[in-house]
Amino acid sequence: MRTVRTVAEIRALLLPDRRAGRTIGLVPTMGALHDGHLSLIRAARAAHDVVVVSLFVNPAQFNEQADLAAYPRDEQRDGELAERAGADVLFAPAAGTVYPDGFATRVSVGGPLTETLEGRQRGADHFHGVTTVVTKLLNMVRPDAAFFGAKDAQQLRVVRRLVRDLDLGVEIVGCPTVREPSGLALSSRNAQLSASERERALGLSRALRNVADGLADGSYTERAQAERAGIAVLRDHDAEPEYLCVVEPETMAPATDLSGDLLIVTAARVGAVRLIDNVALTIARPTDAAIPLGAQPEAQPCSA
Ligand code: AMP
Repeated sequence: MRTVRTVAEIRALLLPDRRAGRTIGLVPTMGALHDGHLSLIRAARAAHDVVVVSLFVNPAQFNEQADLAAYPRDEQRDGELAERAGADVLFAPAAGTVYPDGFATRVSVGGPLTETLEGRQRGADHFHGVTTVVTKLLNMVRPDAAFFGAKDAQQLRVVRRLVRDLDLGVEIVGCPTVREPSGLALSSRNAQLSASERERALGLSRALRNVADGLADGSYTERAQAERAGIAVLRDHDAEPEYLCVVEPETMAPATDLSGDLLIVTAARVGAVRLIDNVALTIARPTDAAIPLGAQPEAQPCSA
């Protein structure tokens, strides 16, 4: 595996592959690699001739300096793991390469998609930071496909919108969330949890499971009722809820109809660590009880 740091190097390295018609898969990461990242690298390896893993802790998407400072960094370990999972190239640009002096351009997806949930909690600049760096990485590497995790469901939705709106001509591949056997979604931030905080962090996946099961078996018939139940599970685990919402996956807006494809998303704090998780579910639509157009219930704001 080669490690490169500049735009000129990555372009020169990939030129012969591109000319020979070999396909390139990109896996953007902020490092501190775990099995979730490695599943994306393996998916890229299975589908493409050349696999590039980018490693860049993007300051523009952090809204808390303490979070940025505490973010784990170990390039050597990440490089070894990426190589073992099948990466051909580690692209690890310096901050000054990504944001050179005088950098003044921003790429932002507007509207509710970036203003709700994570956008509301972390500020819309969070997603503008993501879309700016993703656009830059796509332009630097020019892959055929880029791989993202469903763990960051809203981010995946925003990136798909970015690529569609700007005709970026790259396939965006979403990969399922990898979890520990306990249900805890793998996250680079889990390394900051103490043993007792890990137990508390199980509140997120358990809250999501409670809501998904209750919606699926008909115990919860109202969105607010389902969200309240999920928040109670978080509180039972001493995880401090920021939000728990049942949303429509396309728009990330509160679900007005508790059938069809739904996404349950949550963010909660466990001690100093902020965690997010989500679960998708599909509830069969009642065939004979169609709601006439114009009689759709109004969207209500999400709980917490
Ligand atoms: P990050 O390094 O946190 O920016 O994540 C890089 C990529 O890995 C993103 O596309 C994430 O959605 C994805 N990812 C993070 N955690 C997981 C997980 N547990 N399962 C699958 N993908 C993940």
